[in-house]
Parts: sequence; C-alpha cells; structure tokens
Amino acid sequence: MSLGIDIGGTFVKFTDGERNWKEKTPESTEELLNLISEAVIREKARRVGIVVAGLVDVKRGVVTDSPNLKFLKDLPLKSEIERRTASTVSIVNDATAAAYGEYSLGVGRGSSLFICLTLGTGLGGGAVIDGKPLLGASGSAMEVGHMVVEKGGWLCHCGRRGCLEAYVSSYGLERFYHMETGESISSFKVIERAKKGEKAALRALSEMASYLSLGLMNLLHLFNPDIVALSGGIPTHYPELLEKVERKTKEIAFPQPARDFSLKLARLGEFSGAVGALLIARNQLVY
Ligand SMILES: [Zn+2]
Repeated sequence: MSLGIDIGGTFVKFTDGERNWKEKTPESTEELLNLISEAVIREKARRVGIVVAGLVDVKRGVVTDSPNLKFLKDLPLKSEIERRTASTVSIVNDATAAAYGEYSLGVGRGSSLFICLTLGTGLGGGAVIDGKPLLGASGSAMEVGHMVVEKGGWLCHCGRRGCLEAYVSSYGLERFYHMETGESISSFKVIERAKKGEKAALRALSEMASYLSLGLMNLLHLFNPDIVALSGGIPTHYPELLEKVERKTKEIAFPQPARDFSLKLARLGEFSGAVGALLIARNQLVY
C-alpha cells in the first residue's frame, strides 16, 4: 500500500490511489507530524510520498524553506515520519509532483518533454523528461516562478525583484488590476469582472498573459517541450487565458519549438500533487 500526501497552506491532502481526502493543516510541527503518522499507520502504507510547497532537499529529506508554512523550515520530514511509522518516505516539491501526476494520469500522457506550471497564489513549475521527474542535484529544479524577467522589476514574495511570479500569480494579477483602476480586489474578483466583459479586468489579465508568454518562450527555448500544462486556480477559473497565451508564445518564440508545443489545461485538479507524490513513492523515483 502507498500513500500520497500534499501539505498545503490550508489543507493536507491524502490519496491512496482510489480515495482522496483532506484535513485542515495544523499550526505546529508536532501536530502535523502526528496527523501524517496516524494516516500512514491507519492506512498501513509502506511507501509514502510527501509533497510540500517550497524548497525541499530530496537527498536529505528536508524541507529547506516553505514560505507559506514557515514552521516547516529545516524540518527533516523524511526521518521524522520514518521514525514514527514503518514506512519509506520520499519528499518532493509540490509542483514537481503535480507535473509527474499530470504526466502519468492527466494531460501529459505520452509526452517526451512535459512541463506543468501551477498558477495560483504563486507560480510553480515541474518537468518530466523521458518519463522521469526533473529534480536537479537535490530537488529544487524548475523554480520557474523565480526566473527574473525584469531587472529591478516588481518585488516578489521571495524577496527578489522582477521574478516571473511577481507578474504571473494571483498577487501579480491583483497588482495589474490596481494599476488599471486604483482598486484592490482579489484575483478571483478580477476574473469574475473579466468574464462580465469589464475592460480594466480584461486588460489586467492580458498584461499577466503577456508576461506568462514571455516566461513560456524562455522555457520553449531551454527545453523544447511538446506539452505544457497549466494548473491552479487562475487557469481553472479562466481557461480563456490558454488560447491567448499559446498564440502569443508561438508568435515570439523560435519557430521550431513554437511549432512543436501545445498548451493544455491540467486535468487532475487539486489532488494532482498528492497523486504525483503517491506515484513517485510507488515507482521509487526519489531516494
Ligand atoms: Zn521570486
């Protein structure tokens, strides 16, 4: 039996491959370790994949940094869970796991070079190359959101300036809308207004889309992917974004990688990270 677990800012999501369920994320390390260990023991899981939003060191099994769950910083999650249960634990970044989930069971099936971007509160990225998740030396590859696209540009949540995420994320979209109108509203409100045809909301989305196309162009030039998937709250609620971004990216990129790629909406929804974690653990792709 294997178990996939996705530790998010609001919910901890679980999947055993057949059933998906979620529980509210506890506010301390001890409670979180208890919640996870109890599920692992109850489900008699031997292999466990755990994903965390943030930087993880897959070799050491440590959460290096998690901006939304500060108490996880430097937590040796792998050894802590293994010590409390009889399981083997793999720790992966959430966007990498989501990419592997979409590659295995979603829109990335059959792809030779698959990239999945998660566009919501932040901008995450993961890649699957010839069937294997791209981890890099220690698991922090594909931090697409923190590619700098403007020197000295907008401030990103990571502390740098001009990161792609500062423009392509819920807070980026909110900022574009604020520049248009002077009004501060949530990204979901911006999308709602765009759907009703409000010009300022449509312009804000179009600004965000042009930065996303720039980021995608860079990815096309680096990786020559055949499929790029978009997942997360923004593309799910505003799928109209995809056609526009795909067209714009094809206009500005080199013709060959532009010809070979297509942009698709991810299919697995909010459990994609947990599903990817389950499959990564089951297939023993990470230490
Ligand atoms: Zn950044």
